[in-house]
Amino acid sequence: MSTQHPPVIELRQVGLTYAGPPPVVALRQCNLTIERGEFVTVVGPSGSGKSTFLNIAGLLDTLTHGSYHFDGIDTAALKESERTALRGQRIGFVFQSFHLMPHRTAEENVALGMMYSGVPRADRICRAREALIRVGLAHRMGALSSRLSGGERQRVAIARAVAATPSLLLCDEPTGNLDSASAEAVLALLDELHADGMTIVVITHDQTVAEHGDRTISIRDGALYERAAT
Ligand code: ADP
Repeated sequence: MSTQHPPVIELRQVGLTYAGPPPVVALRQCNLTIERGEFVTVVGPSGSGKSTFLNIAGLLDTLTHGSYHFDGIDTAALKESERTALRGQRIGFVFQSFHLMPHRTAEENVALGMMYSGVPRADRICRAREALIRVGLAHRMGALSSRLSGGERQRVAIARAVAATPSLLLCDEPTGNLDSASAEAVLALLDELHADGMTIVVITHDQTVAEHGDRTISIRDGALYERAAT
């Protein structure tokens, strides 16, 4: 069996200029390759282009310059509906503010998250349970998400993001709303998922978070820089 896989993320001379007026160059001449199984953190101060990078990498926004191959697919060639399908099937998102449905249980939140993932309806509850067990929440599956602690909510959000086995787990400030003990638990979970082979990109302004993973990329004024390992 071949073990050759295309990179999950391959940016070549990528730029994004918001039209304005006045036009704003939010990303410029970005080159970046992230291989399968890597855990990469992306750091930068406010206004440096982190959200713009997340939107590009997550197929939420389109570039104005350069090329982006995701999982070997040239994203410029995709119709909007194809980009949406690719995003639903191959990218799991985790946000700072969890984005769970408060009046649904943990299990329902994870199962509903698979609506656009290509997982057949009949398999979704089973997959949701497996994912919740994986994040250590077997005992909280039936709890309404509004009754969960912040750390538990973020673990549900991670379960939802990985339940359909995406190619990429894309996290935006995943510990930004958590106390330090819950933040550590979430980071330990990301480390475990990485050890199991998941490709993870975490966007953060927090240096402690940035120390996780294999590589750190910094963004300054819309440009990406590889940070040397310490
Ligand atoms: P960060 O997430 O690091 O705070 P952003 O990616 O949000 O940075 O922003 C990068 C630059 O692009 C900033 O100068 C910001 O003001 C600008 N920007 C972001 N979104 C838009 C938009 N929709 N229209 C115009 N400029 C924008």
